Amino acid sequence: MRRIDTRNKKTHKSKGWVPAASVAVLLFGGGAAWTGAHGWDLKESAASLRGALGGETPTDAGSGGQKGTEENSAPDSAGQPTGDGPDQPADGVVTQPAGGTSEKGGDPASSADDPLAGIAEYDDNRPLPSEPTYIDGVLLANKKYPLPADFAPGVDPEAQEAFDEMAAAARLDGFELAPFSTFRTFERQKELYDQYVARDGVEAADRYSARPGYSEHQTGLTFDIGEVNQEQHWARDSFGDTEAGKWLFANAHRFGFILRYPEGKEDITGYMHESWHYRYVGKEIAAKIHSSGLTLEEYLLGSGKGAPSDPDK
Ligand SMILES: [Zn+2]
Repeated sequence: MRRIDTRNKKTHKSKGWVPAASVAVLLFGGGAAWTGAHGWDLKESAASLRGALGGETPTDAGSGGQKGTEENSAPDSAGQPTGDGPDQPADGVVTQPAGGTSEKGGDPASSADDPLAGIAEYDDNRPLPSEPTYIDGVLLANKKYPLPADFAPGVDPEAQEAFDEMAAAARLDGFELAPFSTFRTFERQKELYDQYVARDGVEAADRYSARPGYSEHQTGLTFDIGEVNQEQHWARDSFGDTEAGKWLFANAHRFGFILRYPEGKEDITGYMHESWHYRYVGKEIAAKIHSSGLTLEEYLLGSGKGAPSDPDK
C-alpha cells in the first residue's frame, strides 16, 4: 500500500525559469523586474515588485525594511500565534490530534514502526540522500526526508500552470496574488538559513527556516503567496487574516494546493504555521487534505491516510 520511493520523476527535470517569468508577465504586464533570476526571495521580490508597480527605487532591498523573509513570519510574531488564523477547517472536518496518528499495523515498506515518529526533527547524523523521496508518487521534503543537494528542478510546470489558474480565479474575486518565493536552490537556501542562524540562533531559525537540503522550496512545488500591493503582510501571520489569505485558504485546494504548515501541527510538519506557504500536490490529494485537516505527512505516512474522506483508497 504505502510506498516510500526514491527515484527521479520525469516531471521534475530542470525546466529553468520560463514558467516563473510567465506568471510575472501575467501579473504585472511585462514587469521585467520579475525575471526570477535569483530565487524569488522575499526581499528581492518585494523590492522588484515595488519597482514594477510603483516605480520606486528598491533601496531597502536586503535591509531591515522587510522584516519577514521566506519561511518566516519573523521571530517576534513566531511565538505569538494569533489563534484566529486561517487554519479553521471547513465543515465536516476531522482534525487528527498531533502525533495521534500512529501505526495501524505493519508496513514492510516503512523503515520505522511509526512512520510519523520523529517526523518533525532533524537527524543530524544522516547525510543528505542521493535521491528525493516519493511516497505514493508524491514528493515529500521535510526535516526527516531531505533532498539531494543537487536536486534543482526549477519551478514545476504543472504547479506553475495551477498557480496561474488559481491567480486568475482570485483575480475574478478581486485578489491579485503574488508568488513572492517559489523554487530555491540548495545554495540559496544555505545563504538564507545561515543568515537566520546568525541573527536568531539555530533553535529559533529551525522553527521557521529550513536547513539547506530540507526546504520544500527546493522541490519546485512550493509557492509563498501574498497579495500585490500588500507587501506588509507577505510572509507574516497577518496574511492569513486578510481577505486574500482567507480566499486562498478556502480555495487553494480546488487548484491542487494545500496550506503546508497549518497551525497546531508544528510537531508533525516541523514548522510553525505559515499562512502564505502553499504546496502543490494536485487537485485530488489537495481536496482530501483540505477536507480532512490532515497535514501532508499524516496523509502520506499516518494511519489517517484513507480516512475519513478518502473512501476509495
Ligand atoms: Zn515558503
